[in-house]
Amino acid sequence: MTLSSVRGMKDILPPTSARWAALEKVYRECAIRFGFSEIRTPVLEKTELFSRSVGETTDIVEKEMYTFSDRSGESLSMRPEGTAPVVRALQANRAALGEWPVRLFYTGPMFRHERPQKGRFRQFHQFGAEMFGTDSPFADAEILTFLFGFLKETGLSGVSLELNTLGDPECRPAYHRKLSDFLSSQEDRLCDDCRRRRAKNPLRVLDCKAEGCIRATADAPSVLDSLCDPCREHFESVEGALRELEIPFARNPRMVRGLDYYRRTTFEFVIPGMGAQNTVAAGGRYDGLAEMLGGRERIPAIGFAIGVERLLMLLGEGEPRGPATDVTLVTSGIRFLAEAFRWKMELIGRGIRAEMDYEGRSVKSQFRRADKSGARFVLVFGESEAERGGVVFRDMAAGVQEEISKDEAIRRLHRLTEEKGG
Ligand code: ATP
Ligand code: MG
Repeated sequence: MTLSSVRGMKDILPPTSARWAALEKVYRECAIRFGFSEIRTPVLEKTELFSRSVGETTDIVEKEMYTFSDRSGESLSMRPEGTAPVVRALQANRAALGEWPVRLFYTGPMFRHERPQKGRFRQFHQFGAEMFGTDSPFADAEILTFLFGFLKETGLSGVSLELNTLGDPECRPAYHRKLSDFLSSQEDRLCDDCRRRRAKNPLRVLDCKAEGCIRATADAPSVLDSLCDPCREHFESVEGALRELEIPFARNPRMVRGLDYYRRTTFEFVIPGMGAQNTVAAGGRYDGLAEMLGGRERIPAIGFAIGVERLLMLLGEGEPRGPATDVTLVTSGIRFLAEAFRWKMELIGRGIRAEMDYEGRSVKSQFRRADKSGARFVLVFGESEAERGGVVFRDMAAGVQEEISKDEAIRRLHRLTEEKGG
């Protein structure tokens, strides 16, 4: 019996893997243009990193983490998100990362034990970016322009930006109280999770996806009415910058995000009508996170994460982008294998994508495969040509072939390399 992969964890096969790599290349180039450098953090972290940052009463920490004790009894978790690890790495390597602002980007797998469904997996991937050391609203506008620009460059259409603010430790407690009072009046209509969380973490209730909770909170007080002056000014400056940059957005005062560390600006890029998996990218400001993780220094910060599987799904299947073969070497008999193999290795060394058959298949079947792989040219190594020191050179698209010297064949393929390189 063959083994299956772990539920909710998928193999990424060609041609999707080629589309994936192309998307990652666009992301990387975009990030570098905005001045971000790459960081790669471990897939495993101490569990405490996430319980202290993402939050004890969030879905992620309560029920989605892959947590286990390793052989020395330490509790470890597969990272469910990328921000907390990046902050940990920043604190541990502060001096090496240079002056503020520090701009870092990442790509990689994340792990959450959720119910697998369309657009929701247990191992999924994110492209993310974090900007540290400035609480300027221009930083928020920069991050949003980067994300908006990248999504546009991928060709994604119909995506809209929803913006909110969650206030800060000055004004949030008052809002918590207002919301909590409102929620106690709606207690009977809330799901069990929300009833339990209501007192400790009332914002979570606004994020609940249960129908009953959505209806019960339709008239909940808006955070926008409880902001202190600095938070209001910050929010208005971000909105002003977005208008100047002609980046369309809509306020969504119900958007609280699934993690506890956010302060002030939060945002999501959503595709309307995509159901519960309609968010392709999300993020926000998290000025308090470094201190929550035990740092002495307050490090203002803002970042986002893009769901790669969701983005690829929304972009559609498109053209399979697997590169076609340039030249297939066809041998009429196994005694030509060694010579054709030398050619193949040399051509690959010159940047030409060359293929050949090693199994001694018939010439007819080798041609069929050449055709299938989209080869532009075929070189035939045969008895009579070899006697004259030549090969047959066939242009597959034009359907013409001629016998030429080996030197001439090399010259022609050389031209192909130059075309490709140019
Ligand atoms: P959702 O509300 O869809 O559960 P989230 O708020 O949990 O999303 P974040 O933690 O903000 O998501 O992660 C950022 C992005 O990562 C999401 O917008 C989404 O595109 C993607 N993502 C999150 N969880 C999954 C998952 N289980 N499978 C695939 N992609 C995911
Ligand atoms: Mg989630």
